[in-house]
Amino acid sequence: MHFTDLGLAEPILKALAAKKYANPTPIQTQAIPVLLQGKDLCGIAQTGTGKTAAFALPSLDYFARNPKPTPLQGCRMLVLSPTRELAAQIAQSFRDYGRFMKLSVEVVFGGVPINKQIRALGRGIDIVVATPGRLLDLIDQRAFTIKDTEIFVLDEADQMMDMGFIHPLKRIAKLLPKDRQNLFFSATMPGEIEALAAQFLHDPVKVSVAPQSTTAERVRQQATFVNQAEKQALLNLTIRNEPIDRALIFTRTKHGADRVVRFLEGAGIQAVAIHGNKSQAQRTTALQAFRHGHVKLLVATDIAARGIDVSGVSHVINFELPNVPEQYVHRIGRTARAGAEGVAISFVADDERPYLKAIERTTKVKLDIVPLPENFVEAVRNLPKAAPQRKGREQTPEQKARRADGQRRYQDQQKQQPRGTAERAHRPDGDAKPAKKNFRRNRGGVGAHKGAVQKTGGR
Ligand code: AMP
Repeated sequence: MHFTDLGLAEPILKALAAKKYANPTPIQTQAIPVLLQGKDLCGIAQTGTGKTAAFALPSLDYFARNPKPTPLQGCRMLVLSPTRELAAQIAQSFRDYGRFMKLSVEVVFGGVPINKQIRALGRGIDIVVATPGRLLDLIDQRAFTIKDTEIFVLDEADQMMDMGFIHPLKRIAKLLPKDRQNLFFSATMPGEIEALAAQFLHDPVKVSVAPQSTTAERVRQQATFVNQAEKQALLNLTIRNEPIDRALIFTRTKHGADRVVRFLEGAGIQAVAIHGNKSQAQRTTALQAFRHGHVKLLVATDIAARGIDVSGVSHVINFELPNVPEQYVHRIGRTARAGAEGVAISFVADDERPYLKAIERTTKVKLDIVPLPENFVEAVRNLPKAAPQRKGREQTPEQKARRADGQRRYQDQQKQQPRGTAERAHRPDGDAKPAKKNFRRNRGGVGAHKGAVQKTGGR
């Protein structure tokens, strides 16, 4: 089948041609005709299957055929995503596929100042991609409403549940208008997810694409048994020995991810970490560096890496095995994307052997057991020390720029002022800072009385 057979509007076909997409993927073939008819859809599919275009293309087609002004402080389409990275990625897809249409796309998520988002949403937006928490913040501040939503998409529902978004989702369900089209996607569909789907969907058509355990057939999967304490030495060796273009290294904890990065840095290997404790700016910078190939190694926890679509990942290294087999499938699905081959290497400590068994049962694939490399004992003995932990909060590029800007302004100020005044201006009791200001700042707060006494010189 060709995209032109689906009856999509001309500007969309033009955008697809520009991206050199000729044929729809299986999820797109199944979902697009149903969605073009305006029906609700429940899809079992994971990132990497072309799921984003499966919901973006028919929605854009709807906009092309039903032009309308955007509702003030509202949107015509709302897409919910569990993570910031995925939200940004989805918004970018809408911009790409809709580049020949005049549509506004806005992405809103936490971890960044809210005011800019409030301003952007005020005029009304065609497509808003949001994480649930920030969306509700905006609604609670009366800066945004979802009552005009015509198309609603809930993406990665199972991860939403894992991340504890159930109550926000229930609230959002109540705030949506009754008359709308609903799309619901999840990688798995256990009972609780089905119950959640029932809250959003009306008589949905169900589509499902092959679970990734079969799509991951192009991934060469291997495992090595190794003591937990010796995994870092094995990682260093693996990185040096394998022909890595780009590798995603998974750890179970955020702390573990930072530790791995510091040990790699100690060995002179450049890597960046991405996890929930990093600021949004740090996460974006790390992901960009990895995407553009400036850094070949990205060390991640599952939550942060979910939904990340980076092409050219040649290796996935499980520094620790996940205790849920589906998560393993998800991790190794980060490689071998878009028809490429990939390698998944798992380091298995003694207490992780049951996880390995569960993974093999789920995927119906026996992992190749690879022995420890010959020079392993030596590598363990000579493992370079971890790079020292950075003191204080790491500065983001924006923070660094702001700081440099502040310093520059201070220096300029010093140059312009007659000798002596710059110094005074920076003394708390200097002439440039009248006591009156101190008094005002203290008014009503702790020490207000003291300020008043100082000002009046006592009663
Ligand atoms: P997704 O599952 O939406 O994250 O998509 C996975 C990757 O496949 C993304 O990089 C898409 O740009 C790409 N993609 C989606 N649909 C197609 C298609 N029909 N042909 C080629 N690539 C596609």
